[in-house]
Amino acid sequence: MFSWNEDNFVRAKKLYKQGVKASLIAEKIGTTRNSVLGKMYRNKLSKSKNKRRQVRHSYATHFKKYGESNCLLCNKTYTTYSKFDRFCSPCKSRDFYRNAI
Ligand SMILES: [Zn+2]
Repeated sequence: MFSWNEDNFVRAKKLYKQGVKASLIAEKIGTTRNSVLGKMYRNKLSKSKNKRRQVRHSYATHFKKYGESNCLLCNKTYTTYSKFDRFCSPCKSRDFYRNAI
């Protein structure tokens, strides 16, 4: 049964920072991909945060005004509920929007 310790955590962290896929790291140290990702996330090594910030930054240039905006996906005018709102609700539930963040 696998358990995290200082040794395998240091190895995993090193590989993760080099950009090695979590599934490969998991294979090397003898655990699952989810276990590796969870461990990295809990230790704030996850890259997903940076990715999200980059996406938000690039969309910021398209943002018009708080209250009403054009959906970036279907171009319909809709009411925004926060300054981070850029898509109408039908578009928000689409798969490709979820993949973009
Ligand atoms: Zn839309």
